Amino acid sequence: MNRTFHIEHETGKALTGTWLRLWRVVQVVVFIIGAGIFAALIFFPETGIHAFWNVLIPVAPALFVLATGVWRNVCPLGSVSLLPRHLGISKRRRLNLKWQGRLHLAGVCLLFLIVPLRHLIFDTNGPATAALLAATALAAFVAGCLFDWKSGWCSGLCPVHPVEKMYGENVLFTTPNAHCTQCASCVIPCPDSTPAMSPAKANMRKSHRISTCLLTGGLPGFIWGWFHVPDYGSSVGWSEIAISFAYPWQGLAVSLGVYLAVRYYALAKQYHSLLNSLFAASAVACYYWYRLPALIGYGLFPGDGMLFDLRASVPHWTVWVLQIIVAAFFYWWVIFRKQAAAEWVVRPPFAQRRK
Ligand code: SF4
Repeated sequence: MNRTFHIEHETGKALTGTWLRLWRVVQVVVFIIGAGIFAALIFFPETGIHAFWNVLIPVAPALFVLATGVWRNVCPLGSVSLLPRHLGISKRRRLNLKWQGRLHLAGVCLLFLIVPLRHLIFDTNGPATAALLAATALAAFVAGCLFDWKSGWCSGLCPVHPVEKMYGENVLFTTPNAHCTQCASCVIPCPDSTPAMSPAKANMRKSHRISTCLLTGGLPGFIWGWFHVPDYGSSVGWSEIAISFAYPWQGLAVSLGVYLAVRYYALAKQYHSLLNSLFAASAVACYYWYRLPALIGYGLFPGDGMLFDLRASVPHWTVWVLQIIVAAFFYWWVIFRKQAAAEWVVRPPFAQRRK
């Protein structure tokens, strides 16, 4: 199977020289920014929360849609995970397809478990968010120590990776691979190097298929439900816990139900990828429909997730115009824009098999 895979996928040159050094500089700079945000979350929580939840995280979905490879090259947690491989201390174990599927399913479940906790603690508590990031960095590092290249974390357990896969189907351009020096086919198919990657392209095992359905069908409703819950901050009891999970999970169940019904009862197979793209576009459009107004004080719960309060200077109707333009853009980009079938990053030359 690997042999066929090698023949079907072209490789590029490994990154070397000045370009490699430049990417290393960018990786270090982004890592330092990440470390700065981490420190701010502990020592200046208000600033840290704004920088992480209200600047970095809102930028991420758009970056996944437009240039997933850039993020894959510079993500600080990815750098932490790949550090053992770059230093030559990774055990470089291979994950078989069964475990690749299980890790991917675990990543999707983690995403749906962790995100509702934002309303209960992370959105309003800097040290708690720092603790979450520290635990995540530790998990990424351990995964990198054990498994080859990106298989354990970046293309495995990372809860953000399923979202990259869902949004990164029609990227603007392919970047060089600033991590893998040789391709060990550590994950099949490699999400970084597969043209027009989407969750449906990794459907070999039952666990892959379950995670693909959960994510593709459930994410739009999950996002919609999440935005209908306020940040509870310090006043958290059982009812707040129940509401924080109930809204996004009910949204997930409804949109998953619609997705499955349309997919299995109303659409011929050749339209399934169009349905997947429609749900991916709906998820990212829904995210910005609620997130952009919240950033400037016009959210469903004014103050929650607010970066600047522009209510006195920006009329409400301009927010609706902005919402419509941004949503239309993502539907156009994901569904109607001509598919470039680009990979996220260039696959480096294949490595010789280790004996
Ligand atoms: S390019 Fe090869 S080594 Fe790198 S993540 Fe993809 S499959 Fe793994």
